[in-house]
Amino acid sequence: KDEQQPLHILFFPFLAPGHLIPIADMAALFAARGVRCTILTTPVNAAVIRSAVERANDPFRRTTGAVAIDIAIVPFPDVGLPPGVESGPALSSQEDRDKLFLALQELREPFDRFLSENHADAVVADSFFPWSVDTAAKHGVPRIAFLGSSMFARACIDSMLRNNTVEASPDDPDAIVSLPGLPHHVELRRSQMTDPKKRPEQWNFFQSINAADQRSYGEVFNSFHELEPDYVEHYRTTLVRRAWLVGPVALASKDLSVRGTSELSPDADRFLRWLDAKPDGSVVYVSFGTLSTFTPKEMRELARGLDLSGKNFVWVINGSDTDATEWMPEGFAELIAPRGERGLTIRGWAPQMLILNHPAVGGFVTHCGWNSTLEAVAAGVPMVTWPRYADQFYNEKLVVEVLKVGVGVGSMDYASKLENRRVIGGEAIAGAIGRVMGDGEEGDAIRKKATELGVKARGALEKGGSSCDDVGRLMDELMARRSSVTVDV
Ligand code: UDP
Repeated sequence: KDEQQPLHILFFPFLAPGHLIPIADMAALFAARGVRCTILTTPVNAAVIRSAVERANDPFRRTTGAVAIDIAIVPFPDVGLPPGVESGPALSSQEDRDKLFLALQELREPFDRFLSENHADAVVADSFFPWSVDTAAKHGVPRIAFLGSSMFARACIDSMLRNNTVEASPDDPDAIVSLPGLPHHVELRRSQMTDPKKRPEQWNFFQSINAADQRSYGEVFNSFHELEPDYVEHYRTTLVRRAWLVGPVALASKDLSVRGTSELSPDADRFLRWLDAKPDGSVVYVSFGTLSTFTPKEMRELARGLDLSGKNFVWVINGSDTDATEWMPEGFAELIAPRGERGLTIRGWAPQMLILNHPAVGGFVTHCGWNSTLEAVAAGVPMVTWPRYADQFYNEKLVVEVLKVGVGVGSMDYASKLENRRVIGGEAIAGAIGRVMGDGEEGDAIRKKATELGVKARGALEKGGSSCDDVGRLMDELMARRSSVTVDV
């Protein structure tokens, strides 16, 4: 009888859009296969995904009258922070960041309570909640870790932690640090990596994440086999863990509009109409995700770069960068709508999947957040890479050196000290855009590869595709586990 009940998976995302969104998409993928899904999160985050979840639930409501995805809301722990911080841009003071860290620890209690009160066949818990491995174990529920990055980045981080080549390198931000034991030769600058001496908390946090993920039932990735086959193999043979690759999860919704035309982006239609008027492949889309901030100096150079590139552009400007008088170069206002035709600036939430999949878009200047990177891959759009912090430097390596679907602007520094960071000049930005979008052999080769990868990405989620199979494989394993557990009892 038990075996006839659908599987129930609890999804527990870290409180940031870059983690929450792919987890909600992943839930939609499993729900479409008959799995009952619950997403445990706080009110502010629930609001971000509510319309996506409603949309995913629609067909079920029509056919069975029931919903497939539930959102279980838990209050954001009261640690003396203003409301809404858990999904906003990074907090500026160390004191507030400590409070946020404390609040995240305190989510352990509602997570524990949920598992006491509800049956779950598995939890897909964010790697950023390493303690969730113990809580899940206490309830006898397998914990599947979700790091929210590529297998490539996972392998790089693992190599960095294992070999600590950072500390062994000369104490110079430009020192080259290599990451041994990987299928490709990968090296970064010291300034792009986590330094255990300078950022011991972060280093220790990575260690605890890695340890918890190793003790987990397995790991689920927003990636697909054909994207990084060498790293799938590396993961299986070197790291010896179970893994399922179920991405690109952004394609979970057929109309790509999950994070687009919802209440998050009320002007989406206007942006798409603007794109409709532009020739195919003529527009560069510029966005740096939800958390990255830029100094006015950097904004000015970026504006100059877009102007110098000669391309049409759509530029998403984050809330915290908005005082235009501080950065806007002379003549720039004449380029952008409503005064000019060359560019469109978007303040607030952009319908990124719809923009990337618009035929007018021919390039993407990105911070290499993993979601954005994979969304560009899925849309077949080549990238200009401008990583800012964390795994973004690894993702850049994957895009530029392994996949060869992008060109870097020459970003060197982890963004911990914004004012010390080397500013990238407008010429370098325009140069990289030109190499990716311009005529000539290099651009042709990059665009051809990007198109090919896009086809593979979409194929992965179709029936019989690798990601579609991995979803089924995980479901079968959990079902088999359920019968064996029932027999044991
Ligand atoms: N996103 C969006 N519109 C925006 C900003 C972001 O749709 O204006 C989405 C984007 O498509 C991606 C996610 O938010 O799915 C950002 O995740 P990513 O890993 O790229 O960057 P992060 O914000 O975590 O740095």
